[in-house]
Amino acid sequence: MPTTLRWLAACDRGLAAAGRQLQVLERRRADAGWIAAMDDLNVTIEDASGPVSFIVNVHPDKAVREAAQACELRWQDFLSTLGQNRRLYDAARRVKPRDAIDRAFLQETIDNFVDAGVGLPDAPRQRAKALNDRMTEVGQVFAKNVRDDATRVPYTQDELAGVPEAGWKDRPRDEQGRVLMGLDGPSFDAVMGHAEQAAARERMYRARYAMGGEANLALLGELVRLRHEYAGLFGYASYDDFVLRRRMAHDLGRAQRFLGEVKAAVAERELRELRELRDEKARHLGTPPEATRIERWDAYFYTERVRRARYSVDQEAFRPYFPPQESLRFVLKVAERLLGVRYTPVAARLWHPDVQAYVATDVRSGKPLATLYVDLYPRDGKYNHAAVWSLRGASTRLNRTAEAALVVNMDRRGLTLDELETLLHELGHALHNNLSATRHASQAGTSVLRDFVEAPSQMLEDWVYDRRVLALFQEVCPACRPVPEAMLKQAVSAREYGKGVQFARQHLYASYDLALHAADAPEPQATWVRMESATPIGHAEGTMLPASFGHLAGGYAAGYYGYLWSLVVAMDLRTAFAKDRLDPAVGLRYRQRVLSQGSQRPPEQLLRDFLGRETDAKAFFADLQK
Ligand SMILES: [Zn+2]
Repeated sequence: MPTTLRWLAACDRGLAAAGRQLQVLERRRADAGWIAAMDDLNVTIEDASGPVSFIVNVHPDKAVREAAQACELRWQDFLSTLGQNRRLYDAARRVKPRDAIDRAFLQETIDNFVDAGVGLPDAPRQRAKALNDRMTEVGQVFAKNVRDDATRVPYTQDELAGVPEAGWKDRPRDEQGRVLMGLDGPSFDAVMGHAEQAAARERMYRARYAMGGEANLALLGELVRLRHEYAGLFGYASYDDFVLRRRMAHDLGRAQRFLGEVKAAVAERELRELRELRDEKARHLGTPPEATRIERWDAYFYTERVRRARYSVDQEAFRPYFPPQESLRFVLKVAERLLGVRYTPVAARLWHPDVQAYVATDVRSGKPLATLYVDLYPRDGKYNHAAVWSLRGASTRLNRTAEAALVVNMDRRGLTLDELETLLHELGHALHNNLSATRHASQAGTSVLRDFVEAPSQMLEDWVYDRRVLALFQEVCPACRPVPEAMLKQAVSAREYGKGVQFARQHLYASYDLALHAADAPEPQATWVRMESATPIGHAEGTMLPASFGHLAGGYAAGYYGYLWSLVVAMDLRTAFAKDRLDPAVGLRYRQRVLSQGSQRPPEQLLRDFLGRETDAKAFFADLQK
């Protein structure tokens, strides 16, 4: 049977199994055992539908991706119907919880029913389902348009002056012999960070921010209107209000106040850095500084130049020290040393020959905990950022182990220090899934609140700047030369440089997202042009960043501020590791009190349990001043 038909058959089987289990649950008494039965249903759904959404993003065969996408829509229909199941909703409200964990499970379950529209009158309830289904469909097409974009930017060798030869030598050529660069991370970074000619960088920048095109701008506009209408069905003035009431931030005012504080803390620094970049550009081109302007495609290039000139740091110089496979072994070793989990490679035939599988076991007990899949390198049709998919949530009640897939797009030549940081960040998400030990699978690992979920990953980011942590590299690869101490020292000091520009950008993204989902549900591109134009560098006419801003089309709508919000938590978490980033005792406490708890306790409580005090933003704002 062809693969796609096999996929369709598997889709039918999964839906049928979930449907049968749902019928049994509907007839079940709402006693203390109901919670486990509801969790069991969620497990069946997760096992059958999780791989479907994942395969859409990584399968090398386009026909399979499309079959999976069609299956995903059928699951969406199943889930939006389930979300409005009155019998289950009534049962959830009748069940008496035995303890705080069961109470949290019930509250979350009830909230999900409410947010799916179960309590609405007939007409708006039906509309809520239709809107939910349509939003999923629109989000799918948006993501597909980005993923399947096969644009190649042609360059002559002269135009690539400055770009390390290893970064383009093996690329395909067009009939005129020009090098064809894709829009994937390694290609984009190579040109934007190194091409001496502004025109070469500008072409790459414009190609990258044309991705998705007018089609995706229209889809994002539709999504914004649908979300606004959806919030309105529940009596909320905006989608921001609808979403934020369920987050750590609680309400829009608090999220905006926080963003305002971030902005105030970095505004001056951003301007100072931009003046320095302008001076660097003037020196580079021999133009008078007053007549020199920093364009969008200059910022990254000149930041790297200043870093090289002032701190003698060249990210490219790290690649020979961090081969990809050894880098993976290194981050897994960090997890082993700090958190007591060992990763052992196992043979498995997966969606692509490059993909690897690991079994995670608890170092002390030898107990198997999880399976981790790792997909390291870019290829056509593959998700083009870095992310982790939680495919299975663990459950102590079911003796169920976890399963996650880590997907990145690394350069086969080796990683820069920045890329090693990205790999460790993503491993942080995988660990949150793998080391979860909640009672119920529905509360496992990364099911935590969206403005908390980045904290465990962001916490680990600065581990790669620690000489003692990096020394683990030689344990996994004795043949790899250690990064010279001076080089690392320089990277540590250079790290602070560029923070003003970088945080201002994150602030812009977060504010843009909140603005899009505000009460007036404005038009995406016009709003973006207005907001980006108000920044010191301004907007490059003709570019359309929102057309490929996948976070906003997907699950981060009214939630992008969560990256900055989580970073506050991450920096507070780091204070516990200030003396020793590899302290196994602190690591174990962190694993037990934060990572293993998933969403069965509120994040504020996890932080209190681990830190021994209320969490605060002191470390974050102190860092912004550094
Ligand atoms: Zn992340």
